[in-house]
Amino acid sequence: RAKQEGRNQICCFEQRQDVRAHMDHELSQEMGKSIALGEFKLHFQPQFSIMSGKQTGFEALMRWDHPVRGWISPGTFIQIAERNGLILPLSEFALREACTTAAQWTQPLRVAVNLSPIQFKKIDLVPMVESILKETGLPAHRLELEVTESLFIQSNQRTIETLKQLRTMGITIALDDFGTGYSSLSYLSSFPIDKIKIDRSFVRDLANSHGNMAIISAMIGIGRSLDIEVLAEGIEDKETLEMLRVAGCQEAQGYYLGRPRDLAAEPGFEMSQPALDDIAEKAKALKL
Ligand code: C2E
Ligand code: MG
Ligand code: MG
Ligand code: MG
Repeated sequence: RAKQEGRNQICCFEQRQDVRAHMDHELSQEMGKSIALGEFKLHFQPQFSIMSGKQTGFEALMRWDHPVRGWISPGTFIQIAERNGLILPLSEFALREACTTAAQWTQPLRVAVNLSPIQFKKIDLVPMVESILKETGLPAHRLELEVTESLFIQSNQRTIETLKQLRTMGITIALDDFGTGYSSLSYLSSFPIDKIKIDRSFVRDLANSHGNMAIISAMIGIGRSLDIEVLAEGIEDKETLEMLRVAGCQEAQGYYLGRPRDLAAEPGFEMSQPALDDIAEKAKALKL
């Protein structure tokens, strides 16, 4: 009987794997057409300075508005796009769309765009970024590009050169998901990085976990000694925000401060009073 159950579990596991593989395959097949049809959208999540309580920018986060399946999270489709090669057009769309949107804001907020390591490998990023900035009229200092530690695992001279050139243009380079990769810390002093984003996994449960607080304090210390800005992501409550403020973290992002939202559905969102009230209220909370 136990043997039978064991066999059933294996069977169910295999079935689940199968369903997953089948869905991935379908999404992969549909993706090209969906890009052309404009089913990919950007949502924007606000980022704040912890000291001043002022908004500093927005991070652009991609979503797939699928006609049958509804909103699909990038956690599901980015990997698929990286495998089928469509990450390149998808990323170019995200960058252009983010810059176009940000150029229309009445306040000079920064926009952060996530990059894939594939872009560094397969294309010449510098001319692409240059032409998108020119085309959209967004000043380079209002663009932030997010990379992950995986970029540094098999980094070559070209990757470093590309990052240096982007930085020379005035673009900010942020290291996303900081602390979750396998890289050694030594890259922090050898790669051109302006900002680290402490991953949500360290920020979650901060109020109940001494271990994580020690790690976060150490990360903030590293940032300070290397003159790298530190942003904490995934802040979901006031207590966590307060702990980060006390620890000396400079910037904050998370559901407590604002969820990613569809700014296209809020024309003139900066003038809309509810949004302003909301931000003012959050700023008050930040000052405490
Ligand atoms: P990320 O860049 O680290 O983005 C942060 C993720 O955490 C986002 O998920 C965001 O919605 C979520 N988040 C923010 N605050 C909170 C919070 O307080 N609580 C919780 N539980 N979650 C929070 P999302 O939008 O699903 O994106 C997931 C990942 O997909 C991103 O992680 C990024 O690595 C990738 N991604 C998103 N857009 C793009 C893109 O345009 N290009 C590339 N290459 N990757 C992207
Ligand atoms: Mg990011
Ligand atoms: Mg992040
Ligand atoms: Mg993350």
